[in-house]
Amino acid sequence: MRLGLLGGTFNPIHFGHLRAAEEIREKIRLDRITFIPSALPPHKKVEPPITVADRLEMVRRAVAGNPFFEVSEIEIRRPGLSYTVETLRHFQRSAGAETELFFIVGMDAFLEINTWESYKELFQLSHFVVLERPGTPHALEKFLADNISPDYRPDNEKRRYLHHELRAVFFQAVTSLDISSTKIRDLVKEGCSIRYLVPRVVEEYIINKGLYK
Ligand code: NAP
Repeated sequence: MRLGLLGGTFNPIHFGHLRAAEEIREKIRLDRITFIPSALPPHKKVEPPITVADRLEMVRRAVAGNPFFEVSEIEIRRPGLSYTVETLRHFQRSAGAETELFFIVGMDAFLEINTWESYKELFQLSHFVVLERPGTPHALEKFLADNISPDYRPDNEKRRYLHHELRAVFFQAVTSLDISSTKIRDLVKEGCSIRYLVPRVVEEYIINKGLYK
């Protein structure tokens, strides 16, 4: 089993996240993708009154209907900051030896991974799939050599870097959708429409609960 993991603050989830997940599922031949909303992201503030329950519920509604997508509450149930290393340890224990993990992350976030808790261990626990942004110079090779291990070797045909001990790092371009959670929150605050940026069910949830006003 090849299990994709897409962690995020998802404040709120939008079509950029969903389309990237769908394309990566096909390109990397993943069997499933688990969306993992963070309870307390170590790197971001989630301003009240938006609650963890709201962010979780929007993710649930957004992925419902895609048989390859599911949601994990692991970070929401765990007290304290939502460190990815603890999440990957959990999935490695619970998924079993037959399952390979693929943590999906944007290039911007990945290039800061050396600031994450126990970041070297992350590369023992899971493969990474880094979402390339069009026009952004490919800085992965130098980053891996300088920060993770000088022994990562390119395997360009398969768009990945391989290592004799650590897990692989894949890189993939996905359709560029210039949508961000910040933009959506700003639009709502200004009283503008967010239609076609988020699934209809997420839009309705935001409107009905009066979020982000
Ligand atoms: P987010 O903003 O909610 O977004 C989730 C992912 O989707 C990110 O990797 C983001 O990449 C990508 N994305 C956003 N908009 C997109 C678009 N329009 N098209 C394609 N991809 C898009 O997530 P986040 O708050 O940055 O967190 C990402 C993960 O990193 C979470 O699991 C978080 O817990 C983890 N993290 C862990 C630590 C730690 O353990 N210490 C520290 C920091 C983050 P971009 O980053 O490129 O926008």
